Amino acid sequence: ATPLSIMVATGKGAQAGVLIRSAEALETAHRLDTVVLDKTGTITAGKPALTELHALPGFDDDTLLTLAAAAERDSEHPLAAAVVAVADERGLPRPTVVGFSSVTGKGVRATVDGREVLIGSARLLAEVGIDSGAASDVAARFAAEGRTPVLVAVDGRPAGVLAVADPIKPDSVAALAALRRMNLATVMITGDSGRAAEAIARQVGIPTVLAEVLPEHKATEVRRLQAAGARVGMVGDGINDAPALAQADIGLAIGTGTDVAIEAADVTLITGSLGGVATAISLSRATMRNIR
Ligand code: ADP
Ligand code: MG
Repeated sequence: ATPLSIMVATGKGAQAGVLIRSAEALETAHRLDTVVLDKTGTITAGKPALTELHALPGFDDDTLLTLAAAAERDSEHPLAAAVVAVADERGLPRPTVVGFSSVTGKGVRATVDGREVLIGSARLLAEVGIDSGAASDVAARFAAEGRTPVLVAVDGRPAGVLAVADPIKPDSVAALAALRRMNLATVMITGDSGRAAEAIARQVGIPTVLAEVLPEHKATEVRRLQAAGARVGMVGDGINDAPALAQADIGLAIGTGTDVAIEAADVTLITGSLGGVATAISLSRATMRNIR
């Protein structure tokens, strides 16, 4: 493309809140046939809220929430913030916590008032040999509704399940529809459980879901699609998306996301709206059509 046509397209993008960081990105984006999108913070608002508590026999809501919030207080995960916020709202006590550690992409553990608290995905509990039992049914119900189930185990036994809801961004449905009209295949990639992810995917019309993908494996999944011949645009917001953004043919970062993601990407969607994905690809298509 000519320097002038690149300048014009880049300018139009900027006006629409789509920062295309290089001429190369503009010249490559028209070749994409697949768009992979992270779920949390990309398709959804990324501001999860605790919407339900289900304590198992032997625990009441306040005890469950007190222990869970204590273990989550040192975690930087958005799910943790949702749990802590409600405990603070309710004015629950803040017991002493020792030995906090986080298990990336799975949850956290800590000793709270001398009790071993483990909080996170069903997988995390299973890995340490805890049978989720009755917690599984509750978790399945929350997940079927598109809410993320956060399981809590105390001293090696399931104590309850928290439901965390992260609403879909208002314009995500229209943005995904635009991508389909442009004949792009869409894929959701997430660390969340399959059922919760599928419920969200259904609402925005994404046919393919890669769930329970550990942070370090997102880039591997992109590489796998590329090896099968796909030209991949990756959209993400988090630190855990950065390697996948760099691996993709074109990385598109949510402008309201983390700096690490923005630095790894070729395009920044300044307003955070997914509508910018179609805008970037359309601008590239128009630019490259004109020179041929
Ligand atoms: P995503 O790809 O959706 O941003 P993550 O890789 O950050 O998800 O986390 C994957 C899953 O691990 C979450 O859906 C949750 O089940 C569990 N998890 C991770 N960190 C925490 C935490 N601090 N508290 C509870 N659950 C957690
Ligand atoms: Mg995310």
